[in-house]
Amino acid sequence: MAPDRLDNSLLVIFGGTGDLARRKLYPALFNLFVDGFLPPALRVIAVGRRDFTRDSFRQEILLPSLETFSRRTAYLNTYFRPFATRLHYFRTDIYEPGGYTRLGQFLVEIEEEEAGCRGNRIFYLAVAPEHFGPVVRNLKETGLVPARGWQRVVIEKPFGHDLPSATELNRQLRAAFSEKEIYRIDHYLGKEMIQNIMVIRFANTFFEPVWNNKYIDHVQITSAETAGVEDRGSYYDRAGALRDMVQNHLLQLVTLVAMEPPASLATEAVRDEKVKVLRSLKPLNIAAVGKNAIRGQYGAGEIDGQGVPPYRQEREVDPHSITETFVALKLFIENFRWAGVPFYLRTGKRLPVKVTEIIIQFKSLPDILYFKEYGELRPNLLVIRVQPLEGVFVQLNAKRPGNNNYIAPIRLDFCQNCEVGVNSPEAYERLLYDVMRGDPTLFTRWDEVEAAWQFVDPIANAWAARPPLFPNYAAGQWGPPAARELLIRDGRHWWQEDELPPQRG
Ligand code: NAP
Repeated sequence: MAPDRLDNSLLVIFGGTGDLARRKLYPALFNLFVDGFLPPALRVIAVGRRDFTRDSFRQEILLPSLETFSRRTAYLNTYFRPFATRLHYFRTDIYEPGGYTRLGQFLVEIEEEEAGCRGNRIFYLAVAPEHFGPVVRNLKETGLVPARGWQRVVIEKPFGHDLPSATELNRQLRAAFSEKEIYRIDHYLGKEMIQNIMVIRFANTFFEPVWNNKYIDHVQITSAETAGVEDRGSYYDRAGALRDMVQNHLLQLVTLVAMEPPASLATEAVRDEKVKVLRSLKPLNIAAVGKNAIRGQYGAGEIDGQGVPPYRQEREVDPHSITETFVALKLFIENFRWAGVPFYLRTGKRLPVKVTEIIIQFKSLPDILYFKEYGELRPNLLVIRVQPLEGVFVQLNAKRPGNNNYIAPIRLDFCQNCEVGVNSPEAYERLLYDVMRGDPTLFTRWDEVEAAWQFVDPIANAWAARPPLFPNYAAGQWGPPAARELLIRDGRHWWQEDELPPQRG
């Protein structure tokens, strides 16, 4: 972790009128402002094609974005005006080279007005991925980089479509920025409970000694959404769940659960351990893909009692699409700690509940002392809830009160956001804060991206060679039946909320 050095800078957001900027970036910046975490002279320059004046941008884009998406709307009356004075709008097309020269002059004018910025610049690419390379090339060719002070570039997902395209994108970025200046966002890493995984593992005597193949039976990682593709059909139909979720978010969760303790909390020490996990993933050959990689696409169904259309009828989706909206995988990490322990991953759209969680199932004790006649002996579970609830709980077996030896599962529970008034920061708050203070620990390094694609590409290629029979699950179900079979054939099952001991409170 880098020391706090919150230098002033200019934050230039390409795509400053887009969905990501409105939904995530401005609300995060506003929340940081309210909490006093923005550098005093930070200025934000939103770049877009549309015609806005500074005032109309603030009224038509900024204010509605904060009113709709900020967790701090109660502070708008007091803080909106001072916050808005830090925002500027700059109109250009990112393919117009003259636009960069004008932008450069505009940035210098702001720097002259606000001397504190000292030539430090952050370029945030909140535009479609095909624009990443051209924007960076233009920044370099028109002399906006290298900046006079420090410079950083923030890249949204997806980082490539496969290993060759990711390598090419990386080459383009590296022509203008060093690896240390590139911040590749994986917003899962900004979530509170994801950052908590390392703390739970490495700050508690309970867990580290049993965190291995001697005591852990298997790991389940679920990231489920009830939503469909909403207005991102055109992007999603080209990506699919494997590229959109597994290559980045889910494999990042695997690294945090499986990594060795780093030598320190320094950025590169943490990343070194994460990348070792990715490099130890057992590759899936074609036969293993057939057996251990399940894909699905939703048909019509019901979510929360409401009928929803099939994926192929979503806006901007090919009516014959064979894009997967669900993936379940069984994977192994080939190292001394994890040999033989399956990691089961699943993710999808239009699933019955919105939840992201990690379940560590420990091996069962022999049924010698407390066997069936005393009640149901459950495996110990450690459940890490990432969203929407944030917390952690442990399932234990305990004696039921009474004059006999009956046992029952109980739950030791900590819920971070169940209490009224607790309002965890959004992932983008932490990530933007880290970009501004120059701490890339929660961003993915190139070799992590590369190793993740090396694992995912053979699965994508094997699937591309064999067109699926889609749709194969109804919206509102937990994916196709094969996803359940994946565990059942190993004598296991996906844990469902209603099987776990109830939460008290
Ligand atoms: P979007 O809503 O389509 O917005 C695109 C933005 O790019 C708009 O501000 C648009 O400006 C600008 N733009 C497009 N072409 C341009 C051009 N030729 N010159 C100048 N500006 C141009 O896209 P988005 O959903 O915000 O996504 C942006 C990036 O974030 C993508 O890489 C996406 O994969 C990633 N991402 C988005 C989300 C999300 O929740 N939306 C989540 C994760 C990752 P105008 O409006 O002025 O045309």
